[in-house]
Amino acid sequence: MLNYTSKIRETARRLLTENRVDAVIGFKKGTVPMMCQPVLITTPEDVDTLYWDSFCGVNLANYLPKRKERIAVVAKGCDSRNIALHILENQIERDQVFVMGAPCKGMVDRRKIVTALDNQEPTEVTEYADRLVVRGEGIEAPLNKADVLQDNCAICIHRNPVICDELMGDPVPEQEGIDRYADVRELEAMGPDERSKYFTELVRTCIRCYACRDACPLCYCPTCFVDESRPQWLGKSADPTDTMTFHLLRAFHCAGRCTDCGACERACPMGIKVRQFTKKLEKDVMELYGHEAGMSLETRPPLDVYQPDDPGDFIS
Ligand code: SF4
Ligand code: SF4
Ligand code: SF4
Repeated sequence: MLNYTSKIRETARRLLTENRVDAVIGFKKGTVPMMCQPVLITTPEDVDTLYWDSFCGVNLANYLPKRKERIAVVAKGCDSRNIALHILENQIERDQVFVMGAPCKGMVDRRKIVTALDNQEPTEVTEYADRLVVRGEGIEAPLNKADVLQDNCAICIHRNPVICDELMGDPVPEQEGIDRYADVRELEAMGPDERSKYFTELVRTCIRCYACRDACPLCYCPTCFVDESRPQWLGKSADPTDTMTFHLLRAFHCAGRCTDCGACERACPMGIKVRQFTKKLEKDVMELYGHEAGMSLETRPPLDVYQPDDPGDFIS
């Protein structure tokens, strides 16, 4: 495990004591194994609540838009890219946010562990450098962390924070030689009917709880189109057309802005691989514009940039 807990606590204590920030957003240990929950602390007395392990997968950038106070936030590589986007999109000021950078070796997918245990929930998980030992009733299983990473983490090539005010540990080696888009290429090879069938089946069990939207740092519109009632863009029932409309519009809304942080997929109670939508668009934006979201504070997402000499063939 990358043990950042003591460094996170020490930094948070210093920032709060010296009155450099009004609040710190990090993680605290959950009440059940394999769960860490976001926490906001405002006093040095509370810093010992802060905690870090490989179950801190929630993207904390989600808690930044429109904050008024000075805020420190623990940020993995993907979180830092979403923070960069928030700064570019005027959701928070750069000098208002203190980035506590957490170089990351990937977050563990608790569902993969439960599957490895024949659908039993472990009562205890101990984490070592690259290994986990999970225990449950009559179970004691060693697992390689690499085998139970979140799908997006297994293919992540930006594990170190891209913007940072202080690192919580040494930078980690970035993964090289990763094929990020094998699954997208399979989709692209399908004909239109087959692809439509694939996506229809993908979201067949969607209950439109919108947890994927709520977990995503890119979804911060004051009123989401799915919640509008005048006009009402989407019906409230589980109509398949409404469901697909939600997924397609959400994905296009994230085009050129998605960091593949996996928060949407992680949040889905139905285990739907919603990144199949956003990954395709991520690949398209990369190929069309050579752009990866949130990699710097200088480059805006390509779809919010206008230049008078932009080619306009597609609307002529
Ligand atoms: S996407 Fe990358 S930076 Fe983000 S949690 Fe996974 S490995 Fe870490
Ligand atoms: S769409 Fe999903 S993967 Fe992309 S930024 Fe939002 S939560 Fe992260
Ligand atoms: S979180 Fe899952 S079930 Fe809920 S709306 Fe998103 S895809 Fe559908």
